[in-house]
Amino acid sequence: MDESALPEDHPRYESLVTRHRIEAGVDRGITSRQGLIAQGRGEAFDYLLGEETIPTADRAARAGVARLLAADHPVVSVNGNVAALAPGETVELADAVGAALEVNLFNRTDERMEAIEEHLREHGAADVKGLTADGRIPGLDHERATVDADGIGAADAVLVPLEDGDRAEALAAMGKVVVAIDLNPGSRTARVADVPIVDNVVRALPAMTAHARELAGADDGEMERIAAAFDPDEALAAAERAIREGEF
Ligand code: ATP
Repeated sequence: MDESALPEDHPRYESLVTRHRIEAGVDRGITSRQGLIAQGRGEAFDYLLGEETIPTADRAARAGVARLLAADHPVVSVNGNVAALAPGETVELADAVGAALEVNLFNRTDERMEAIEEHLREHGAADVKGLTADGRIPGLDHERATVDADGIGAADAVLVPLEDGDRAEALAAMGKVVVAIDLNPGSRTARVADVPIVDNVVRALPAMTAHARELAGADDGEMERIAAAFDPDEALAAAERAIREGEF
């Protein structure tokens, strides 16, 4: 079924579109079957959050953008779920913050790496890293440790929209600034991130691009002020409160 055939007046239209994109991603060899499980988990948390961007998540998105803009070598890491859900939005954000794009998979296969690279190129990416695979993240097993030496290997700040906890922890242990988008405020990824954005990637990525365009002319001092004013523990606590106290 084509996405345009989905009923726009359906009360859960956005959720239908998201599911359809992930399903199509699996069919195209972009998303792994485990990606379907991650999607289900994310949907449950999004439901509890009211399927909207809470104010602290938007502040986190702005702080995350400030960290990426202030970095010397920022990289946006792309996995099979992100590539299926928001390829164009991912490419636009990387452009807006001057970051490299790198495909980084939990279940790495050459076929999926290449399919995602091509998909990103179809959505406007000029250069996609990840296939050179000449770098390693210490502390992880071979397959999950593999990165490009001049990409995530050399990055001082990494945006990980949907990352598994081990790898987020390993990136932080390397001294990199970790900006994460994760709907579960209790996940290890969210807890280890310098800037956890508790929001759906579908909403967070375009919101970050808008912040990046607005902050484009700001000086380093302002970036530092925005980053310093953000408290990750407070943001996680606010997201947890929204989930526990929200109505559904
Ligand atoms: P941990 O970080 O605790 O190790 P995990 O590795 O077990 O978590 P996965 O099963 O890989 O986590 O799930 C991926 C994470 O991504 C989940 O926390 C889920 O809530 C989140 N997630 C899934 N879909 C989205 C989405 N569209 N936007 C944002 N977050 C999402």
